[in-house]
Amino acid sequence: MPAKVKVSTDWLTGCAGCHMSLLDMDERLIELLEYVDLRSTPITDLKHPDKDGVDVGILEGCVNNSTTEKVCRTMRSRCKILIALGDCAVFGGVPTMRNTCSAAAALQRAYVETESTVDGKVPQHEDLAVMQEARAVDQVVNVDIYLPGCPPPADAIFYVLSELVAGRKPQLKGKLLDWH
Ligand code: SF4
Repeated sequence: MPAKVKVSTDWLTGCAGCHMSLLDMDERLIELLEYVDLRSTPITDLKHPDKDGVDVGILEGCVNNSTTEKVCRTMRSRCKILIALGDCAVFGGVPTMRNTCSAAAALQRAYVETESTVDGKVPQHEDLAVMQEARAVDQVVNVDIYLPGCPPPADAIFYVLSELVAGRKPQLKGKLLDWH
């Protein structure tokens, strides 16, 4: 039996809905696991892609701060094929609405000015991520496969992974993109 395809996933700035959709493959996940070695993901105890690399990396969410940029670059450097999963990863998505104002204004609104806040203060610590403009994954690193949707349906994710484990490049077009 050929070696299993190593797959890692991670999330950047998103809502976790794309990973929920991945889990929505239900029993087909078991089918895939015959061919896939699921490495680091937010749903396993392994939190970083293998240092010696994986075959497929999957990123949900956009890049909008120093931490997500680092996670994104690490995944890119450790995977052969990178999939941008979902509209936030492919286009930037909902988090790009924050690009209409400065980071300082967004922090002020979130931590000080919200109607429910009393004595609010913008958190500051050297360990906290530094906010950046929200960007699609391919504005930071090269992406090999784009899987849009908010979230992409489990059928589409299953199709893409099935094609990759079969050694083929998925052809996402026509009805395969007609799920909105
Ligand atoms: S694409 Fe949609 S489901 Fe996926 S992380 Fe963004 S908002 Fe959530």
